[in-house]
Amino acid sequence: MSQTVSSNNKGASIEIDRLAKTFGSVRAVDDVSLTIEPGEFVALLGPSGSGKSTVLMSVAGFERPSAGRIMIGGKDCTRLPPNKRDIGMVFQHYTLFPHLSVGDNVAFPLKMRGVAKAERRRQAEAALEIVRLGGYGDRMPKQLSGGQQQRVALARAIVYNPQVLLMDEPLSALDKNLREEMQIEIKRLHAELGFTVVFVTHDQGEALTMADRIAILKAGRLQQVSPARELYERPSNLFAASFIGEMN
Ligand code: ADP
Ligand code: MG
Repeated sequence: MSQTVSSNNKGASIEIDRLAKTFGSVRAVDDVSLTIEPGEFVALLGPSGSGKSTVLMSVAGFERPSAGRIMIGGKDCTRLPPNKRDIGMVFQHYTLFPHLSVGDNVAFPLKMRGVAKAERRRQAEAALEIVRLGGYGDRMPKQLSGGQQQRVALARAIVYNPQVLLMDEPLSALDKNLREEMQIEIKRLHAELGFTVVFVTHDQGEALTMADRIAILKAGRLQQVSPARELYERPSNLFAASFIGEMN
């Protein structure tokens, strides 16, 4: 790799403490507590509607918790807006601005943080190189394939070298080959850049191949948190009962 956003990132811890979120009468998240170590890769796994996105959006600051606390790097972020948290986010449906060039899309978070234009260009190009799209900065999103667009979204999420990368089903819209390619790409970035990852998926196999630990959500409640290795070697009855049997 010729340029890096940073290679001495250690990642920040994340402490989710008794998090709850209700929408009207719906308890989307119900008393969830989870501590994630610096540099750890955790998958939030559960069926549709189990509260995965709401947990992630609460960590990111796009949802305001009904109760509970979010600490990032030991700092209470519960009331901070997303741009005041040390996080990068990849959304479920890659959300590039169609009217902005690839480079301007990637540089957008830097603009939000008041970084000067020349520096924005330099950092955006470095981030594009990291996702192997160096030289694509002047293209428009619609000129790129789905997988390339998702890599642009990834570059945008890591452009300011966040301590935490949050991803909400980032690969579910991709076909199988692209998905496997991107799984490897994300693991490589994690190993190289060292940020802490929370990765939402409803795909058990994806969680097993990617994560250090898997946190299983069901109806807004945390069922189980286990090392992926343990689940590989000895899938517990609880794991099976709490998730596998309920996949649609
Ligand atoms: P998942 O990501 O696991 O599919 P979500 O966190 O999106 O689950 O949703 C959990 C529950 O909260 C679901 O019942 C969903 O319908 C509800 N929900 C999520 N966001 C909203 C919202 N903005 N308004 C009302 N209900 C919501
Ligand atoms: Mg979701």
